[in-house]
Amino acid sequence: MYTDSHCHPENKRFESDREDIFVRAKAADVTTILAIGNGDGPGTGTFDCAIKLAEQHDGVYATVGIHPHEAALAKPADFGELAALAKHPRIVGWGEIGLDYYYDHSPREVQQQVFLQQLELAKAARLPIIIHCRPSDNSNNAWDDLLRLLRENWQSTGLGGVMHCFTGTVEQARASLDLGFVVSFAGNITYPKAQNIRDAASMVPLDRMFIETDSPYLAPVPHRGKRNEPAFVTQVARQIGELRGMAPDEVGRVTTENFYRFFQIAGRNDASPS
Ligand SMILES: [Zn+2]
Ligand SMILES: [Zn+2]
Repeated sequence: MYTDSHCHPENKRFESDREDIFVRAKAADVTTILAIGNGDGPGTGTFDCAIKLAEQHDGVYATVGIHPHEAALAKPADFGELAALAKHPRIVGWGEIGLDYYYDHSPREVQQQVFLQQLELAKAARLPIIIHCRPSDNSNNAWDDLLRLLRENWQSTGLGGVMHCFTGTVEQARASLDLGFVVSFAGNITYPKAQNIRDAASMVPLDRMFIETDSPYLAPVPHRGKRNEPAFVTQVARQIGELRGMAPDEVGRVTTENFYRFFQIAGRNDASPS
């Protein structure tokens, strides 16, 4: 069995065949999916997009949060709405939140402010966080800010989090582990130029990693360039298996166990690991 620990099934690119991606995931033995609930951002009434999918599908869990791209759109009322949604029983984490200095869609100070506000809300909701971190080209800027903010404002909560779609260095992976985080690897681990990601995936202890698709983005080889979907998480497992001398389904089983343990999900009869 496999777990896609991060995807965006509400995305418009799935409009015509959304049900099919869940069917194909099951057929590929992808039994657990975490749907990320950023929606189209503040002011669009879509923060509940992942909750809706989790209510409709077995083995699907959800998050809520404001993506750093959309931080500049956040209004005070949005935070109240998120806090209310976070109480839903299918919500297991807060995210994705963080810093993106590559696109700079929102000013960096605003990204940091909105990030800090959401750390407070996640702390109050007792939820771990899902982090998106992307620095400018050839820079560690977003990582340096992120790790500092987490050390000062999150580490003491003991709630931990997930470094989603990890693209940093071995040192940044180690710093994430030191903060009590899980490191999650996505389809870009299969790209020829991504040796830094493969190096990190060789170092991170097996019991501290997740695998994800971040679909519809970042389809792994051999689907690269096409729309990604949860079933393709098996290709991430194949790549990590190659690095670690393991069969793909063994990587799937271990990362599924990690997912259920980390998010403290128990007692499900259809998808819980044995
Ligand atoms: Zn992301
Ligand atoms: Zn994402």
